[in-house]
Amino acid sequence: MKHNSDIIIVGAGLVGMTAALACAHKGASVILLDGQDPAAHLDADFDGRASAIAASSYQMYRHLGIADRLGEHVCPITDILIADGEVGGYISPLTLHFDSRDAGDAPMGYMVENRRLRRALFEAVTAAPNIQMRAPVRVMGFEETPASMDVQLQDETLRASALIAADGRNSFCRKTAGIDVSEIPYKQKAIVTTVVHEKPHKGVAHELFLPGGPFAILPLTENRSSIVWTDKPGAVDAAMALPEPMFAAELARRFGDMYGEVGPCAPRQAYPLSLQMAETYIKGRLALIGDAAHAIHPIAGQGLNMGLRDAAALADVIAAARGTGLDLGMNLDDLQVWRNFDNRVLAASTDIFNRLFSNNIAPVKHARRLGLGLMDKIAPAQSFFIKEAAGLHGELPSLLR
Ligand SMILES: Cc1cc2nc3c(=O)[nH]c(=O)nc-3n(C[C@H](O)[C@H](O)[C@H](O)COP(=O)(O)OP(=O)(O)OC[C@H]3O[C@@H](n4cnc5c(N)ncnc54)[C@H](O)[C@@H]3O)c2cc1C
Repeated sequence: MKHNSDIIIVGAGLVGMTAALACAHKGASVILLDGQDPAAHLDADFDGRASAIAASSYQMYRHLGIADRLGEHVCPITDILIADGEVGGYISPLTLHFDSRDAGDAPMGYMVENRRLRRALFEAVTAAPNIQMRAPVRVMGFEETPASMDVQLQDETLRASALIAADGRNSFCRKTAGIDVSEIPYKQKAIVTTVVHEKPHKGVAHELFLPGGPFAILPLTENRSSIVWTDKPGAVDAAMALPEPMFAAELARRFGDMYGEVGPCAPRQAYPLSLQMAETYIKGRLALIGDAAHAIHPIAGQGLNMGLRDAAALADVIAAARGTGLDLGMNLDDLQVWRNFDNRVLAASTDIFNRLFSNNIAPVKHARRLGLGLMDKIAPAQSFFIKEAAGLHGELPSLLR
């Protein structure tokens, strides 16, 4: 049986579609499979989240033509303001302000609604000559042979050199390959919605640390902001059950008078939160990327960015193998070497950050407020964090440069 493509990607989420485009950009032929009908994924209510795309990840979207497709729908993040406080009450004066102008002129990142990004990626994937998308399909299993990876669908078998699992937190491919995952559930859930406000946000992203968890206000186009309200599960369930006017009043209490009148303009959605790390990303001809490999707390808006860096690194690893005529399915180990350390450091720091800030223990509270105030005065530390938020540290894959 002859190979149907160089690689097969299972999972056409944001990471799977980006990986398909990145690998195709480097000359690989790709079959992209998803279990769901694309029409369901493209429905405006499927995913109400918006993502903070780091400057380096956005550079890849420029190379892949996605930035052009997104057009006016992205909002640059110029400032990040971090503060510690109480709901509707005291906000510590010791805030931390990151200003992108302190580290050059470029924004630290760009906010884009997932529904817009999903559509732009889908249109690019379906237009790419060396990507074949098949959805909805049911992947029944896969088998590694000495020269290929064979993927069984309901009524046919597809053959490629490598199988890439981008099938999310509950990855079927990871489970089928017997790769263990360590998981720490957070005693938190997140509510996501979009609000419209009277005054402009001027590109500022706010992270307000409240005792139940962080409350993020992230700038979108047209005087709108995306909200990620993290809290204890009971509080989230109660807020999700509130009638619209009461929910709107709860949101307004968290905003104070910062943006004038504020009101929700999209449905609310709730997400359970946990930290998950696969014990390895590579097993033979199988590689895990995105949430299938690592899923983290949304506190720093880095989960998707980690997956996008996996996709860019995968494209380089595949291009290197193709360039030297090697069997690319047997040369995936560099992906593990390249991405494992970065992903683990980021996962650990978001975990520590969330634990440190999501509590009301008085000495911890005073120490962190002092810490924020101190950090605000140390220019080199600021510049380090601005570069970290922009995803500009470490050895960057070619598409991120
Ligand atoms: C509240 C919240 C806010 C967030 N905000 C940010 C942010 O601002 N910035 C950021 O970088 N990250 C953010 N993240 C994280 C980010 O959303 C995820 O990391 C990212 O969406 C993961 O994408 P993925 O493609 O890896 O997985 P998924 O989006 O889960 O996609 C998996 C795909 O695989 C398909 N699939 C699953 N099983 C199968 C199967 N057996 N066969 C075929 N197909 C299958 C699914 O249909 C789906 O299309 C946030 C997360 C949350 C919860």
